[in-house]
Amino acid sequence: MNIKTATVLKNAWGDKPCDHETLEKEYFNDMATGDYICTRCGEAFTKSERADKIKQEQEDKEKSQE
Ligand SMILES: [Zn+2]
Repeated sequence: MNIKTATVLKNAWGDKPCDHETLEKEYFNDMATGDYICTRCGEAFTKSERADKIKQEQEDKEKSQE
């Protein structure tokens, strides 16, 4: 997703809660920035934040299976 689109999304979304289900690569002038953007609310995540989020989700899933 382009960084400009993300800004528009973010402004439109406001402060509503979002569980950031789908993260897309962030682009600036067709160049990947290395960061990720939530396709729903436009919030930006760094690569390590995204990795932490995926790890957390896996742990939560494992816990709920116990
Ligand atoms: Zn989100």
